[in-house]
Amino acid sequence: MSEKFLHGRVAVVTGSTSGIGLGIASSLAHAGADIMLNGFGEPAAIEALRLEISESFGVRTAYNGADMSKPDEIASLIGAATRELGRVDVLVNNAGIQYVAPVGEFPAAKWNAIIAINLSAAFHASQAVIGQMRARNWGRIVNIASAHGLVASANKSAYVAAKHGLVGLTKVIALETAKTGITCNAICPGWVLTPLVQKQIEDWAARDNIPQEKAKELLLAEKQPSGEFATPKQIGALAAFLCTEQAAQIRGASLSIDGGWTAQ
Ligand code: NAD
Repeated sequence: MSEKFLHGRVAVVTGSTSGIGLGIASSLAHAGADIMLNGFGEPAAIEALRLEISESFGVRTAYNGADMSKPDEIASLIGAATRELGRVDVLVNNAGIQYVAPVGEFPAAKWNAIIAINLSAAFHASQAVIGQMRARNWGRIVNIASAHGLVASANKSAYVAAKHGLVGLTKVIALETAKTGITCNAICPGWVLTPLVQKQIEDWAARDNIPQEKAKELLLAEKQPSGEFATPKQIGALAAFLCTEQAAQIRGASLSIDGGWTAQ
């Protein structure tokens, strides 16, 4: 495959101002795609990221701050990408949040926010791009699910429900597009050291009054047999591979990058 196999394509990566989404945006830009960034953060820091991706990879970039919990803003994000960059060929549904509490104490507002951002946003964004992908008979939808899309952990009711739902949505879109040049797949990472997981490490260290390094070791030991974090770069490389022609018959799959978590 040519190194710039996504040259002339446009990718929208939701939640790409940080962590895994930023890793995926960089990998797709490395492959030549123009990138619409999305996510929260300091405007100056986001603008610096946007420029860095443009300059490092020689691609066009834009940013839209749509709140992925709001369907009308999701429609605006896809509209802005189409207007500013010309089209949308690749959609990576990555934005996500976490909240941890037993079901009896789980705040309803947190449940609603997690379902909206981690699950419903992928439906709304996919709905907004599918028409133009069908018109060109080419597209890639990559949903960032989780090991928690395949198995559960205690205290993560909303997250596990949303990620299992996202794996299901992935299969349905893959079937509906099976005879087209559009594919839809899910990536299921295990632990990746991003701000989302750093918060869980800090909470664990505070709860058990242990150093953060110890909490990190315990967190990995509990679930991830390799004892090592997966990286945003590794997730980005798989997302980019799913956008190649060689991946054209990978459809409706849930691909784990989890250090053996779900092999157990
Ligand atoms: P992160 O906190 O580093 O990044 C989350 C991104 O989503 C940020 O850019 C943030 O601004 C954005 N975001 C949050 N709420 C948003 C909203 N309402 N609208 C728009 N953007 C919003 O987290 P991460 O670890 O990189 O997580 C990215 C995805 O990967 C999530 O879907 C997460 O569930 C999934 N995931 C993470 C891990 C892990 O170990 N870190 C494991 C499996 C799956």
